Amino acid sequence: MRKVLYPGTFDPVTNGHIDIILRAKELFDAVVVTVAINPGKLPLFTVMERVQMLQKSLKGYKNISVDSFDGLVVDHAHEVGAVGIIRGLRAVSDFEYEFQMALMNKKLASDINTVFLMPHEKYTYLNSSIIRNLASLHSDISEFVPPIVVKALKNKFSQKTNH
Ligand code: ADP
Repeated sequence: MRKVLYPGTFDPVTNGHIDIILRAKELFDAVVVTVAINPGKLPLFTVMERVQMLQKSLKGYKNISVDSFDGLVVDHAHEVGAVGIIRGLRAVSDFEYEFQMALMNKKLASDINTVFLMPHEKYTYLNSSIIRNLASLHSDISEFVPPIVVKALKNKFSQKTNH
């Protein structure tokens, strides 16, 4: 069973992330999607909310699981028995940061390789922060994120405006 780890902030998960997860599933036997507990980033959604949105969006897919981690990605890769790390590349602008991370992770754990996947071109301009901005302005985001995320963002921003 060749497992791969897909780490990210997923604040919130978008159809671009889902596209990458399904591509990873074509290449590996199992995919573990893991939410980074990164308080420094001040996410909009809690770790539990992000995990649950991913779980609900991926319900019905076999051998795709969701968890969260604190600390080094490569340590978590070892913990779950993954042979590699998946990262998505949308544009050249992603490259420099991702390249540095991949090299550092390789240095930290020489048995873990990073695999880069490109999404369908219709998702190349999508990122979680644009989605959060659009949702905060009450724009329709239903073509960019799973239905559960549309609902969660509506709740989040109606709470914020009511308080
Ligand atoms: P991080 O904070 O780790 O960058 P993200 O949740 O923003 O967390 O992204 C996780 C991974 O998914 C990253 O490799 C990122 O480049 C990739 N990614 C994000 N959005 C997309 C998208 N629309 N298409 C393809 N890959 C994406």
